Amino acid sequence: TPASDPGRPLTLPPRTSLEQFKDFMLRVNDVVGSENATVISSDAELQHEDYLDPSKAYDMYHVTPKEFFVSSAVVAPRNVPEVQGIVRLANEFEIPLWPFSVGRNVGYGGSAPRVPGSVGIDMGRNMGKILEINVDGAYAIVEPGVTFIDLHNHLVENNLREKLWIDVPDLGGGSVIGNTIERGVGYTPYGDHWMMHCGMEVVLPDGTLWRSGMGGIPNPDADPNAPPHEQKPNDTWGLFNYGFGPYNDGIFSQASLGIVVKMGIWLMVNPGGYSSYLITIPKDKDLHQALEIIRPLRVGMVLQNVPTMRHILLDAAVHADRTHYTKSDKPLNDEEMDAIAAKLGLVYGPPPVREVLLSVIKQSFLQIPGAKYFEPKDMPDNIVLQTRHNTLQGIPSTTELRWVNWLPNGAHLFFSPIAKVSGDDGVAQYEVTRRRCEEAGFDFIGTFVVGMREMHHIVCIVFNRKDPESRRRAHWLIKTLIDDAAKRGWGEYRTHLSVMDQIADTYSFNDHAQMKLNDKIKAALDPKGIMAVGKNGVWPKQYKREDFPV
Ligand code: ADP
Repeated sequence: TPASDPGRPLTLPPRTSLEQFKDFMLRVNDVVGSENATVISSDAELQHEDYLDPSKAYDMYHVTPKEFFVSSAVVAPRNVPEVQGIVRLANEFEIPLWPFSVGRNVGYGGSAPRVPGSVGIDMGRNMGKILEINVDGAYAIVEPGVTFIDLHNHLVENNLREKLWIDVPDLGGGSVIGNTIERGVGYTPYGDHWMMHCGMEVVLPDGTLWRSGMGGIPNPDADPNAPPHEQKPNDTWGLFNYGFGPYNDGIFSQASLGIVVKMGIWLMVNPGGYSSYLITIPKDKDLHQALEIIRPLRVGMVLQNVPTMRHILLDAAVHADRTHYTKSDKPLNDEEMDAIAAKLGLVYGPPPVREVLLSVIKQSFLQIPGAKYFEPKDMPDNIVLQTRHNTLQGIPSTTELRWVNWLPNGAHLFFSPIAKVSGDDGVAQYEVTRRRCEEAGFDFIGTFVVGMREMHHIVCIVFNRKDPESRRRAHWLIKTLIDDAAKRGWGEYRTHLSVMDQIADTYSFNDHAQMKLNDKIKAALDPKGIMAVGKNGVWPKQYKREDFPV
């Protein structure tokens, strides 16, 4: 291929000829430089398998054949005007874009687009600055490429961790912006990341730059002649979320209405004291009682953190892969899991809170027969407890990656329904999900993450991505679980590309009033249908989702 020929992608954008695609890419090259635009033209681009070096063009944990959810090209803008330039070109050529930040949204599709052949916009590669750490206001303003590990390291290197902590999800390699707008969670009192964001700067589908909330008020110190993205934001942008009038941030979360280029995130003031612990509960049947104990403690804020109730196999899988525990192909039964629990010395484990409340907590949980209480110093070799000890104080890690290797060529899908914090509901979700996992031939691996009034129940469907049969069973399992859940009134909070439409359909109150509203907003803001087409079941009128069956 001559230098001026962008080449042929494995998958063209829909409704686009090769010639149009090449014209588009040449124009894109003019905007970002050819070194920042890659056409995905061969299988060599689809070889990434490692979280630490993630793919920017396909889903590494693909449940469908790996060539399905794949971008035609990946473009990495260097600044806000380049983002705007690409968006305007996409409107001109009517080519769909798929923005992502770092592409580590593993279990939900990673960097891959819903519509094969979309152009991936890699926001993380060149736009990774921490723009501000405001110590007095306890917030940071970041660009898309800033990961939790970056932000943490920045605090450490600048001697700011004495003052401020961040909240991190299980894996620290994802971006603050990507995780937050996907409404991911962590485990400190600041665990609800979306709740803790404050102020967004977004490139809208027509290329306009918009600041949310107090960002609407110009800062009197800003240079009015500077381009908008460089104008000093209002001093209260990172302090007060709502501004004046309709509060629009929500429509840019889990959405297809813009590209987030800056965001504020609140940081937690170092509480000046911290203790973590693990409580083990011997039997599945004690789940009911444990949840009934947790609810009043959590909603009453005696439990200040986000406690997790982890199934034994999640911890077992962090310690070693499946072959370490069994030679059988069948899902592990209760007796086998009891044996693993005995070996590891743990079963379910809620986490840390401040010392002052500890006695109440201890007393409450130790009502459960056989429950035991441990502190990190009691179990120096327990990598799960040692890692949680860090996670719960906002120190990021990648230890939890290990459970994905439970099976060879391990990959995972998350099935993530919301549940009431109640014994009846928790037990019912556990029973339904475990039974279906076993029916599909998988071990049940899961955790209840107790927000405040609800739990995110995260079922980790670990499968072998190189075994089509294993992929088929995993796909069947998640589709079946979504239906099982909807029948019982349970809905998921976030999902993988392959089942976005199915879950969107379950939010059907009053003849799908929610989707009808989403469609109207989509049509108004993105009339050419170029932004994140198909994301979470929202399809612009130019597309029929039936044309992109999974
Ligand atoms: P992570 O931060 O975990 O690596 P990703 O970069 O994979 O997350 O992003 C997860 C999802 O969040 C993307 O698929 C996309 O829908 C959305 N997203 C991430 N970053 C942006 C952004 N800067 N603008 C708009 N949407 C984004």
